[in-house]
Amino acid sequence: MKLYCLSHPYRYELEKLVTLFYPLEPITVRTALDGDAGDCLVTALEPNGDAVTATARLTVGGRVTESSGVFGKDANWERELALLAFDLLTAARGFTPQWGILTGVRPVKLMLQKTAEYGEAGAVRYFEDVLRVSPQKTELARTVAASERAQIDSVPQNAFSLYVSVPFCPSRCRYCSFVSHSVGTPAAQKLVPEYVDRLCDELRLTAAAAREAGLSLVTVYWGGGTPTTFTAAQLDRVLGVIEREFDLSACREYTVEAGRPDTVTREKLTVLHDHGVGRISVNPQTFSDGVLRAIGRRHTVADTERAYALARDVGFDVINMDLIAGLPTDTPEGFENSVSHAVELGAENVTVHSLALKRSSALVTEHGEQSLDFGMAPAMIDTSRRLLTAAGYAPYYLYRQSRSLGNLENVGWCKPGTACLYNVLMMEEPRHILAVGAGAVTKLVRGDTLERVCNFKYPFEYNSRFALLAERKKRINAFFSE
Ligand code: SF4
Repeated sequence: MKLYCLSHPYRYELEKLVTLFYPLEPITVRTALDGDAGDCLVTALEPNGDAVTATARLTVGGRVTESSGVFGKDANWERELALLAFDLLTAARGFTPQWGILTGVRPVKLMLQKTAEYGEAGAVRYFEDVLRVSPQKTELARTVAASERAQIDSVPQNAFSLYVSVPFCPSRCRYCSFVSHSVGTPAAQKLVPEYVDRLCDELRLTAAAAREAGLSLVTVYWGGGTPTTFTAAQLDRVLGVIEREFDLSACREYTVEAGRPDTVTREKLTVLHDHGVGRISVNPQTFSDGVLRAIGRRHTVADTERAYALARDVGFDVINMDLIAGLPTDTPEGFENSVSHAVELGAENVTVHSLALKRSSALVTEHGEQSLDFGMAPAMIDTSRRLLTAAGYAPYYLYRQSRSLGNLENVGWCKPGTACLYNVLMMEEPRHILAVGAGAVTKLVRGDTLERVCNFKYPFEYNSRFALLAERKKRINAFFSE
């Protein structure tokens, strides 16, 4: 599919919009007509006296449809062009994206902004009438925004979260595009001991910066990758540094992702629990052994159940389970069974993801996107909403990923009183996040602006260029002394 952007700079948004309708095709963008008569969307803005004429012309299989409008100089031309194109694409493809023209990954952030501007009813109207978001998705965004608002308001302005990145996994899942290194390879395995050393160094630097700035630690979150790829001794060491270096007296939650059941042992769970970790994730993704094999997860359903039972036995208060809708070889019945199984086990949090077709994942590079049936995902997401709502869970955070099946969302569901505050703070970015480890991004908040301090992405760079990274992180001290 070709996208022509004539006399306007809105290429990025329009390309994302076209991708919603042609998720499996490359989109080629041109800024001038080139005489190609194939399938294409031509978008243009032309001056028209005191106004501007916006035009969208869609050619699909030789059939041409066109729509245009005249808009004042103060109009949002980008949005008007997107709406013209949206109507043509919807008619041509026979498919109406449930999130309308909203292509951003943080719909709740927008709902919160619009609620502050227009009030809740005005924000709902904006989503439905202006952005063409379906009533059901608008209601989801409204519910999550209201829940998030309450969470955010409870956190003092000088609070911060500590994020610890562990970009290692026992092996690579076939749908993954994350930079995580599989410790199944000797090269990656060799990096881990030095990585742990540097992580401890960076934690000390970060704690000193937080103390100097008078910040108060409110949540700690270890993500990845799979933090429980570390040995029990490595976990113990890093947890000990956090305990000694940071004031945890105001810390409201401490979470460690133990996502891969094949990394979970009683010894590791006991170390985590003894250091005050109260929440973990044990991620089934699916409760079907056949689907687990298809996605290259080297564990079974029985392993997930064993890890979950161990975590309960060791005493974790809140356990999250991630599930994915739209996995290869899964079926609507299989997915329904997965959601029901997580509910029956009693997970306090269930996070339902829509499979994203990441270009660098093995799923796409080895088999091509065409091998995936993305038509099932919307029904699966509906099923999860129905089952989780009936079981007393409420949606408390949501985000979207680019190239997700059916342009759908990922939603964190929780039983009352068990929402993960870090997830809300990470998604809406209202408070500082001090992040350590490879690929980690520190976010410093001042009013409505956010400054990012990025660490090296890959563990080998993180290990070998740590002195440079430490220099870069002095920016945190500078930020708070400005
Ligand atoms: S566990 Fe997560 S981060 Fe690790 S390979 Fe699988 S999808 Fe990627």
